[in-house]
Amino acid sequence: MNKPKIWLSSPHMGGREQHYVNEAFEANWVAPLGPNVTGFELDLESYLGDTHHVAALSSGTAALHLGLILLNVRPGDEVICQSMTFSASANPIAYLGAIPVFVDSESETWNICPIALEEAIVDRIAKGKKPKAIIAVHLYGMPFKVKEVMAVAQKYDIPVLEDSAEALGSTYHGKKCGTFGQLAALSFNGNKIITTSGGGALVTSTKVDKEKTVFLATQARDAAPHYQHSEIGYNYRLSNICAGIGRGQMEVLDDHVALRRKMHDFYKNLFSSIDGVTVFSEPNEHYFSNHWLSCIVIDANQTNGVTSEKLRLAMEAENIECRPLWKPMHLQPIFEKYPYYGGKISENLFLNGLCLPSGSNLSDQDRARITDLINDVFKN
Ligand SMILES: *Cc1c(COP(=O)(O)O)cnc(C)c1O
Repeated sequence: MNKPKIWLSSPHMGGREQHYVNEAFEANWVAPLGPNVTGFELDLESYLGDTHHVAALSSGTAALHLGLILLNVRPGDEVICQSMTFSASANPIAYLGAIPVFVDSESETWNICPIALEEAIVDRIAKGKKPKAIIAVHLYGMPFKVKEVMAVAQKYDIPVLEDSAEALGSTYHGKKCGTFGQLAALSFNGNKIITTSGGGALVTSTKVDKEKTVFLATQARDAAPHYQHSEIGYNYRLSNICAGIGRGQMEVLDDHVALRRKMHDFYKNLFSSIDGVTVFSEPNEHYFSNHWLSCIVIDANQTNGVTSEKLRLAMEAENIECRPLWKPMHLQPIFEKYPYYGGKISENLFLNGLCLPSGSNLSDQDRARITDLINDVFKN
C-alpha cells in the first residue's frame, strides 16, 4: 500500500513552537517550571477569560484526577460520569477508590442527558448516598446542554467537573467551554486540537484552587527548606519544554478551530446528497463546536446496507483512518459492574457512528481522496 496515510487527527505545528522551546534550552529551563509554563498558563487564562485560573499539568487525565481530589472525593464516594466518553474521564474515579455511576447521553449533543442525570441523582440519594461530583464531557468539541445540566447540579448542590479535553475553542451562548464547571480539565495530547505532545491543564474558578493544584502536582511540599510533606503529592506538572510548544500552539488555536470547522462543512456538503447519513452538528445557534472530530451516524436501512463498519474498512483499505465513536463506559468490561442510568442512546451511537479524518492540516488532495472513496462506497 503506497498511498500516504490520512490521519484522523494529527499534530499541526504553527511555526513558533520551536522558538519557545529554543528559549527554554538557551536559558537551561529544562524543568517542570519556568517561563514557558507561566506564559502558557497566562495565554490560556486570557483565552478563557479573566476570572479563571489555569494550572498546566502533564495530562488531561492528571487534571481530572487532581480535580476530583480538590472536590474532596474519597474512597467509597460516588461520582456521576457521562458514560459515552473516553476512559480517561472515568479512570480517575477508580484511582481514588470511588465508585463511578454512569449516565446515558441525549441525542442532540451526544452528551450527558439532564433527565437521566436527575434520575440518577434522585435514586442514589434514595439509596443513601448523594453523589460527590458530576463529570460532564463536551464530546468531539460539542458543548453539553450546559443550562439544563448546571440547573440539575445546582438543584442538588453537586459540583460539576467539566471534561473539556476535546472542546478548547468551543462556546455555548458565547461563553467558552472550560468555564462552566467549578473545575474543568483540558488536554493537549497529540491528537487534540492543540498539542504540547502530551499535557493538560486544570481550570479553576479561584486562585486558591489553582495554588492547591500546583501544590499537589509538585509532590505536596510544605514550606520548609528540607523536604517536608503533610499530604500525598503527585508529579503532574507540565514541563517547560512542552509548555513552549503550547505557547506556539496558542498562537494558532483560532486558526485550527476555523480549519476543523471547515472540515465539518466539507463533510456536510459531501453527505448532503447521500441518504441515511447524518453529520453530527450543533442543535442550534447557541452551540459553537470546535468540531475537533467530524462524526457521522449511518442508518443502514437507507444506505443499501452500507454500515459504519463497512465504511471504516473501505477507508482503511485506502489508508484513511476512521474510528468508531467512543464505546460507552457502562459497556466496558472494567466498568460494567457499576450503576448505569438511561437507555440506549449512547449504545446506538456507538453501533452506528464513525469519526472521520478531521485534522486542521488536511490538504485538498486528502479531501479529494476522501470524496472519491465515499462517493464510491455509497454509489447505487
Ligand atoms: C483526551 C481526553 C482525556 C485525557 O487527556 P490526556 O491528556 O490524554 O490524559 C480525557 N477526556 C477526554 C474526553 C479526552 O478526549
